[in-house]
Amino acid sequence: MKDAVPADTALYLPGVATPRNVATLVYAGVDLVDPHRAVIRGTEGRYLTTDEAYFLEDLEELPCACPACQQPRDTFDRSDCAEHNVHALAAELARVRRRIRDGRLRDYIEGQARQDNWLTATVRTLDQRYGYVEQRTPLIRRAELAATTEDAIRRVEIQRFAQRVTERYVPRFDDRPLVLVPCSARKPYSDSQSHKQYHDAIQWRAHVVSMTSPIGVVPQELELTYPAQHYDSVVTGNWSANEIEFVSRVLERYLEGADYPEIIAHVPGEGYREICENVSGSLDREFTYTVRDHPTTADSLGNLAAALEGWDTYQKSTREHRTIKAIADYQFGAGAGDELFPDVATQGRYPQLRADDADGEQLAALAQQYGVLSLTTAGARRWVESDVPTKTVEIEPFVPHGSVLAPGIVDASDDIRVGDEVVVTGDAAFGVGRAEMHGAEMTSSTRGIAVQMRHTEEL
Ligand SMILES: [Zn+2]
Repeated sequence: MKDAVPADTALYLPGVATPRNVATLVYAGVDLVDPHRAVIRGTEGRYLTTDEAYFLEDLEELPCACPACQQPRDTFDRSDCAEHNVHALAAELARVRRRIRDGRLRDYIEGQARQDNWLTATVRTLDQRYGYVEQRTPLIRRAELAATTEDAIRRVEIQRFAQRVTERYVPRFDDRPLVLVPCSARKPYSDSQSHKQYHDAIQWRAHVVSMTSPIGVVPQELELTYPAQHYDSVVTGNWSANEIEFVSRVLERYLEGADYPEIIAHVPGEGYREICENVSGSLDREFTYTVRDHPTTADSLGNLAAALEGWDTYQKSTREHRTIKAIADYQFGAGAGDELFPDVATQGRYPQLRADDADGEQLAALAQQYGVLSLTTAGARRWVESDVPTKTVEIEPFVPHGSVLAPGIVDASDDIRVGDEVVVTGDAAFGVGRAEMHGAEMTSSTRGIAVQMRHTEEL
């Protein structure tokens, strides 16, 4: 249904919603529901909550504080039960709306769907229909991503990051040793106490890649890039078999595309070591292990520093230039870093970086909050003229101010996602902005903001 109707058409699913299932229905794409089923179930003597559908006669007390439930149990009848069900549905819907505004409905769903096997199956089925959810999932978000269940590994944000790191990202620091380190609870990693200690031992003589569940591996250039600095996972020291398998696979694929002279695993025991040993075995590459007891002990840090003896330090300009290129690959596609930014000079102090061309004209700036690049029109022109596929929004002949609305759009690239950088072109204007809709939504909608413009030039 969602694929068959325009994106700005509301989908109404009558007679199905209950307090327990409504969050999952909305997650699946339902826009409108009604209280009919909640009322009918009440008149049948079923008392609905977000986790159960009780037989009213089984309840010694009413597990709710809504107005209908403010009475003694023995006077509470089936019409009160219907009233309670409607309240419970309304309260759950209000929670869902809040979660949507916060960009955190998925976190809630992973818990709420557990209340019923059919709902759990629905969420898993949606995860398997990856394309449907991927198209509708923003590239960047302000919200924290709570990775608290095994389902988190299947999330679009997690899969997308792993896919881009292994398929688009080009290791540019593989002319020095690789140091694998454990992630830190504090994000970005480089702000954490432990990573500062690793840094003191490494002194820019190696490429640092953090290992983490559920994201996989995070090269140092992408530590700000969503969701690398936005996720929070549950740390118990015990890794599940699924986590070990997922991170091993990502690390293996990452290393297949790199050519490091040496691999140093500065990781504690537990899952980290097991993953490194898996990958070392499957790739037939030797890893040097530098940790004794714990990664931040003086012994371990001393081993790490000693393992890097003889290697030169990377210059600041080299690091920053390669960081811009790495983010460009991640964001725009394989090869984008070299195509768009072969010769740039970086300005500012990380993470407030900008990239200028040889004449000092700004091409892009690093948006620190999401770890992605914001292009200028000069940067956008380089993108259009490059061999890297451009995400383009073609508009009617007008000059957009602030934003482009859906009705003004003639055509849009199908692979545009919310949060993507897009080039906006028309007979009257050329510009660049950030997508507020996915590509198909832009062409099928008749209302709403499609692109938030950053720079526009009148032609
Ligand atoms: Zn109630």
